[in-house]
Amino acid sequence: MRQSMMFIPTLKEAPKDAEAMSHKLLVRAGLVKQVAAGIYSYLPLGYKVIKKIETIIREEMDALGCSELLLPALQTADLWKESGRWADYGPELMRLQDRKKRDFCLGPTHEEVITFVVRDQLNSYKKLPVGLYQIQTKFRDEMRPRFALMRGREFSMKDLYTFHANEECLDEWYKLVWQAYKNIFNRCGLEVKVVFSDPGQIGGDVAHEFMVMSEVGEDTISYCNSCDYGSNTELSNLQVGDVCPDCGGSISIAKGIEVGNIFKLGTKYSKPMKATFTDKDGKDKPLIMGCYGLGVTRTLMAVVEQNNNNEGIVWPEEIKPFDYHIVCFDVKKDEQVEASMEIYQNLRKMGECLLDDRLERGVVKLKDADLIGIPVRITVGRDISEGLVEVTNRKNGKTDKVKIGEIEAYCSSL
Ligand code: ATP
Ligand code: MG
Repeated sequence: MRQSMMFIPTLKEAPKDAEAMSHKLLVRAGLVKQVAAGIYSYLPLGYKVIKKIETIIREEMDALGCSELLLPALQTADLWKESGRWADYGPELMRLQDRKKRDFCLGPTHEEVITFVVRDQLNSYKKLPVGLYQIQTKFRDEMRPRFALMRGREFSMKDLYTFHANEECLDEWYKLVWQAYKNIFNRCGLEVKVVFSDPGQIGGDVAHEFMVMSEVGEDTISYCNSCDYGSNTELSNLQVGDVCPDCGGSISIAKGIEVGNIFKLGTKYSKPMKATFTDKDGKDKPLIMGCYGLGVTRTLMAVVEQNNNNEGIVWPEEIKPFDYHIVCFDVKKDEQVEASMEIYQNLRKMGECLLDDRLERGVVKLKDADLIGIPVRITVGRDISEGLVEVTNRKNGKTDKVKIGEIEAYCSSL
């Protein structure tokens, strides 16, 4: 891809209201642009990374045997009245009316719709268990949209719903999804802690949150220094130095960004919405459900929050927008342009390349390259007259002079 043709509007200054480093970098590196409070456009570079995160999610969900579908964002109030949430949900629900004055909402989550979709169809124990997921835009009129993608009013979520004939089966799946979530976050380059959480608005008996430790996190969590125990302080009033309820170790407190949330819903939706199946014993019972949310755009935010340095973003391997960034230092010099093109054509066989062929000053391009954070940069400058380019590792800043004929070998050794 030629950078002169790709819309990457980098900025020298971060927006005034940006507090979190990830907010500053996402905007400055030209990944996103705010359109209104809590509403963002994902620009080409940002959307490219989002699609990579989505690919990881799809691979891990499909590996569990779940299938992807797409439910409507526009939902009728009737379904929400069936579950009781039309009255319960409060002002976070984006409500609207059609021309006939019928009530609708823009989905903040999809338990009602999915329950409607499967009821009457998943009507026998023989058809269970089933796992269905989607990656979709959600709408929530958050009281305080902030930190760019972290708390948006429109954002992207992966939501999975599972249906079971009994609690044991739900328990088993809950563990499998838990592991899949760990895989997803690890592959995105994130370290997470799993903590007990309050089921809140979604409901159910048991819930866990996946937390990225960060100062800009809006949740406070207590966790054990010795074992895996952790809980949201909404649930537990543990203090620093308290004794871990699981192992007797010592408790620490820290801020976290919630990137995922999993729930054992049980029959919270299937009962009021009459989604039943005939069990082995011939009796009709409500479906046992689990639901599992993962914030796609919030994950992008958390990744940038955890992976940056003074100069800009440092992309984790699996979600980097490009493999190689070839910077032609001065496009007015034919020699540099020709060499850049040749390297570009060759490296394209090895990975995705971004070629900075813009009519900008060389130093500006190098600053932008650090900001955008592609792992390997090949700078084609004055040294090309001696057949040399500079190859820079974004993560540690290490730069080597490499002969033009040896670039591919050098890059594959990285
Ligand atoms: P929070 O406590 O942060 O409001 P939640 O408990 O309301 O989150 P869920 O309903 O469980 O969130 O949604 C599943 C996932 O969707 C969350 O773990 C988070 O990653 C993401 N998410 C929730 N609300 C937002 C939002 N306003 N903007 C971006 N992502 C969000
Ligand atoms: Mg919320």
